[in-house]
Amino acid sequence: MKYIGAHVSASGGVENAPLNAVEIGANAFALFTKNQRQWVAKPLSAASIDAFKANCAKHGFGPDQILPHDSYLINLGHPEAEKLEKSRAAFLDEMQRCEQLGLNRLNFHPGSHLKQVSESECLSTIAESINRALDQTSGVIAVIENTAGQGSNLGFRFEHLAEIIDQVEDKERVGVCIDTCHSFVAGYDLSTSESASAIFEDFDKTVGFKYLKGMHLNGSKKELGSRVDRHHSLEQGFLGLDVFKFIMADERFDGIPMVLETIDETIWDEEIELLRSFES
Ligand SMILES: [Zn+2]
Ligand SMILES: [Zn+2]
Repeated sequence: MKYIGAHVSASGGVENAPLNAVEIGANAFALFTKNQRQWVAKPLSAASIDAFKANCAKHGFGPDQILPHDSYLINLGHPEAEKLEKSRAAFLDEMQRCEQLGLNRLNFHPGSHLKQVSESECLSTIAESINRALDQTSGVIAVIENTAGQGSNLGFRFEHLAEIIDQVEDKERVGVCIDTCHSFVAGYDLSTSESASAIFEDFDKTVGFKYLKGMHLNGSKKELGSRVDRHHSLEQGFLGLDVFKFIMADERFDGIPMVLETIDETIWDEEIELLRSFES
């Protein structure tokens, strides 16, 4: 079964996210459990946690259908000790919020070397950050998202994801999320079914489908290999619909949250319907 939704608003409280997902006909959703542009947030209230769980249960959203995303400020590969510490503390807080909400995965961007350390050094720092967070929590999988490779962000090659996973001690609690827009601008040509098929073969060999814990379904405003992260609606931009037809007809993408981060939220309901029409 395909779980399809969008990154919905949690404004007014996390308990509103499942309700916003229902509105657009989704059976999956992503959310921020705190303001994604601030370092510190108030703890989740018991009332908010209870209401979130009740709304999810009422509308049939289990943990495998929900993909929380962490704050954009966090850099788990930061080359400076003090800033790395700040990121690790914020990431732990994000993991703990997921624990409190009964969720089983947290999606994040791996990190940036800021041109101060080598790629492999930065990837090791990221793995160590993950190890520390996993040691202090339970039940939540750290889900590394592939990136567009903008600036000094790592994670734009499947090999980067594999190199991090390789250094994570608890392999049961690490996974990846593949973003179609990020892949495309990072140089993976997903614009035809044939190339998409070959790229996901490469993904399977390099990382492995057993680690796939979520998908971000986005069109791209920028060209193949541009390394610029600008999402577009599914039917617009350079990526085209073939990759979505491919994904929807392939059972390796069953049972994981697949969420739109497309730019026009007023058509999310239509985009979900379009994706459903591609299911075989
Ligand atoms: Zn992301
Ligand atoms: Zn994404």
